[in-house]
Amino acid sequence: MLEAETSATTTAVEAIAGYPVGHAVVPNLRDYSAFRSGFSWDAARGDLEGLPGGGLNIAHEAVDRHAAGKRGEHTALRWLGKNGTIQDFSYAKLSALSNRFANVLQHLGVAAGERVYILAGRIPELYIAALGAWKNRSVVCTLFSAFGPEPIRARMALGDARVLITTPALYQRKIVPVLDQLPGLRHVLLAGRSDTDGDIPGALDFAQLLREAGEHFGIAPTDPEDPALLHFTSGTTGTPKGAVHVHQAVVTHHATGKLVLDLHADDIFWCTADPGWVTGTSYGIIAPLTNGVTSIVDEADFDAERWYQILEQHRVSVWYTAPTAIRMLMKMGLAPLAGRKLPALRYLASVGEPLNPEAVRWGVKAFGLPFHDNWWQTETGGIMIANFPALDVRPGSMGKPVPGIDAAIVRHNADGSVIQLDEPGVEGELALRPGWPSMFRGYLNEEERYRKCFAGGWYLTGDLARRDADGYYWFVGRKDDVIKTSGHLIGPFEVESVLLEHPAVAEAGVIGKPDPVALEVVKAFVALKTGYAPGDALKKDIMAHARKRLGAVVAPKEIDFQQSLPKTRSGKIMRRLLKARELGLPEGDVSTLESM
Ligand code: AMP
Repeated sequence: MLEAETSATTTAVEAIAGYPVGHAVVPNLRDYSAFRSGFSWDAARGDLEGLPGGGLNIAHEAVDRHAAGKRGEHTALRWLGKNGTIQDFSYAKLSALSNRFANVLQHLGVAAGERVYILAGRIPELYIAALGAWKNRSVVCTLFSAFGPEPIRARMALGDARVLITTPALYQRKIVPVLDQLPGLRHVLLAGRSDTDGDIPGALDFAQLLREAGEHFGIAPTDPEDPALLHFTSGTTGTPKGAVHVHQAVVTHHATGKLVLDLHADDIFWCTADPGWVTGTSYGIIAPLTNGVTSIVDEADFDAERWYQILEQHRVSVWYTAPTAIRMLMKMGLAPLAGRKLPALRYLASVGEPLNPEAVRWGVKAFGLPFHDNWWQTETGGIMIANFPALDVRPGSMGKPVPGIDAAIVRHNADGSVIQLDEPGVEGELALRPGWPSMFRGYLNEEERYRKCFAGGWYLTGDLARRDADGYYWFVGRKDDVIKTSGHLIGPFEVESVLLEHPAVAEAGVIGKPDPVALEVVKAFVALKTGYAPGDALKKDIMAHARKRLGAVVAPKEIDFQQSLPKTRSGKIMRRLLKARELGLPEGDVSTLESM
């Protein structure tokens, strides 16, 4: 239902004005076609300052240049604690605190290029640490705090984590069980440590180190091509892939913040994504700060009442959120909005999964504004396709390519050739012409996997889409088996591997089962070893094992037992077939199916 609606080529085109007519704030991009034809990334770079001594560093563009200028006292981050605390950080304060953290790293002997990991909820220390690490020219890797010990271990080991910033509770629950498997980890810094945490041997106190460090720091010359960010993403098979991004990614973050999210200096901007995922760093840390706005950071999890209250109380003007959250709000109807006044709200955007046309229309009903869907992925580092204020929104469409981005629908043939499918409405793989600043520069230590993403001069996104006659792109689905649940990309292989650790499990196959709110939920099919009988108690035990190892977001929500799983003759579990059977769909080509 979701996919059918979002992928419609539509006969009568429905269009909603992309921006409120006559609004006092004039959009940054007023003529899409003209702007696009005059755009160059080189010119976009000119919007940034560059380091005084040469080069380009994300943290300088995000905080230092504002701190030193007229916006020094402007609020950069407004942090809303779970318990009701509100803490404002001006650009000057954030600059000074991140200087301190850069000094801490220097003092600890952490070199440029070494990996600084952050495993924390949305707490101020996360933002200070990321900015400070960029100043030190270390590579920042943020991990989602809801991951269990296994996904954390895998990502820290792959990235050879040198430093970890986390909290006492996360450290005890998620790091201690795997600490002996992280020999490269030299320093653990605990944020928010209190007396009740007791003695944690070997761990340092983030707050104390920060207090003791100097407030001045000169960023060393940073090559725009120096690595700055490591973001893990999932594939169908194998270990998670560490997409490497460089300092000049900031050019894309800044430009798309301005052109797609329409950030103006006086905006109060709220990106609801967690920095453990790429949206929460590119648009939850970097883009709002480079654009000099006030960025809201809410520590708490989704709660409709709280969210509406934040929009109202903090006068949010630009709101960037995700389809699952919008669907949860829609489920509650308009009643929680009754009596709320949101005059400041002027622009709504959404990313991460297909946005149902109904959700776009609901935005108009609820807020008088449509949600602007946009598309991108970990590898692209920034928004690539978007509905813009200057264009009509076509509900269900991802919009048009960002200025500076060449997109196409292609067919990638078995012989390696790529054919562009220019005919409107034809379904194919979404491809982008490489060369934009926030493009990933590789998968860490996996040259072959990286190389496979390119053919015929295109970057192949792994997504299927089509383009209509007016140049709007419509998402169709994924080419591979990765699962999108509540906006989080989950690799089935990672889940299957953990299921196989359970003594009763002989085979495991994991799929995304369609879900009206989360888009998909993780569903596992399991065949048992001889001597084990299916039953509720065993199901619970396997489920508990998966949750403990993987964390609740990654672990399966459902497990079905099967006698044996469908496999190819070479022994690969056919997830596609498991999914087709689950959904009662035609089984398609089963010629490689092992006879059972
Ligand atoms: P991630 O790398 O975790 O950000 O996930 C990227 C993937 O999410 C894309 O390749 C798409 O499959 C999906 N995605 C992101 N944005 C959209 C969107 N606006 N519409 C449909 N799918 C999306």
